[in-house]
Amino acid sequence: MSAEKKGGVDESRYRMETQLIYGRDFTPKWNYQHHVIPPLSSSVIYRLDSVERGAEGFVEFANPEYLSEDRDPIYIYDRLGEPNKDMLEENLAHVERGETAVTFSAGMGAISSVLGVLTKAGEEIVANGTLYGCTYSLLKNWFPRWNVKTTFVDLKNVENLKNAVTDKTRVVYFESPSNPTLEVIDVAETRKAIDEINETRGEEEKIHIVVDNTFATPYCQRPLEHGAHFVVHSLTKGIGGFGADMGGVVVGPRKWKDRILLFRKDLGAVMSPKAAWPVLTYGLSTLHLRLSRMVKSAWKLAEFLETRDEIEYVNYPGLKSYHRHDIAKKQMLDFEGEFAPGALLFFGLKGETNEEKKERGRRFMNYAAENAYTLTLAVSLGHTRTLIEHPASMTHSMIPTEELVEAGVDPGGVRIALGLENVDDLIQDVERCLEAV
Ligand SMILES: *Cc1c(COP(=O)(O)O)cnc(C)c1O
Repeated sequence: MSAEKKGGVDESRYRMETQLIYGRDFTPKWNYQHHVIPPLSSSVIYRLDSVERGAEGFVEFANPEYLSEDRDPIYIYDRLGEPNKDMLEENLAHVERGETAVTFSAGMGAISSVLGVLTKAGEEIVANGTLYGCTYSLLKNWFPRWNVKTTFVDLKNVENLKNAVTDKTRVVYFESPSNPTLEVIDVAETRKAIDEINETRGEEEKIHIVVDNTFATPYCQRPLEHGAHFVVHSLTKGIGGFGADMGGVVVGPRKWKDRILLFRKDLGAVMSPKAAWPVLTYGLSTLHLRLSRMVKSAWKLAEFLETRDEIEYVNYPGLKSYHRHDIAKKQMLDFEGEFAPGALLFFGLKGETNEEKKERGRRFMNYAAENAYTLTLAVSLGHTRTLIEHPASMTHSMIPTEELVEAGVDPGGVRIALGLENVDDLIQDVERCLEAV
């Protein structure tokens, strides 16, 4: 980095009040190459040494001929790019085994953007029926206004996908495991079906597979390795890891980077450097430690829940009883290739009627909120604390019970997102809550 203004400036010619604006910023101290932890960059604008450099910077921005991960970029304005999120992006692309990554202010910014660049009016998306609520709302309430229609099907069965695809389909979108019920969708099988369809299509008509990998995190699964074209994440969850900052990312092929960057520039959903820095410094560096512990705990808790009479079923991809266990085993692998079935589980409380199931879920949650030290009643996941959610009495509480059942939401279903506590402490609290309902 340049340490001084070229030619030097005699600052004694200027008044103190002016000097206080310009200070002694351009000194040899302006060099961060020897920092062990990257400095937290906090500058919206960047000084351009000459108008030529400014012009070059604008030409470079989002220009595939210039884009290179290891070239010294010319920064202009934070919304276009700055060091903290650029460094985070390099690392996220690496951990997801992708060519390139673009960060966003939140997971929803990433999802809106990748779908925004992959579709235009008159085109279609095929999405899995169960999705994160805001993603469902985006596809249901907003994209139709730009004449982009979504067909929702159960993507566990690849025949449903083949039947739903039309000439206008451009995107297949799903989460695996999905929110909140932890359905696992076979990425490789989906890719095989899409490859057959894409074979006869031109470049602009090809279908892309976008996978929301938030629930698994790259520690448990890298969908690009199994055939996904793009991966999206809410960095707010397991990658950020501490529940202190929001963020999102799209990871995918380098040839799409320019369009995603240009879309981000104009949509404006940029990740703040102040949010990127902790994800880079604390989140990624502890991902392995945190997730390996969470997976172990989830597994043990799932096995415990399976033995309990109060419970009808436990959805945890690691359990042999789980109906998609074999598929999970094939694609949910940690960096060493060991089975890593995730840090969330979903279980259903028994009840004679749906109303009774819902009531038991409500009682479980309220008892936990008041009496369980290690269970926090809150949305989100991938936190240091274990978080519990009961869709029927929380996120979906406005929907009558019978309609919930029709939509595939178990009124007695409880989601647990593991934290970092000692698992035996957790099990003790869960046991007390079960006894109370
Ligand atoms: C939280 C979440 C999102 C949205 O992410 P934000 O950072 O809250 O915008 C998307 N998908 C899944 C699966 C999530 O859990």
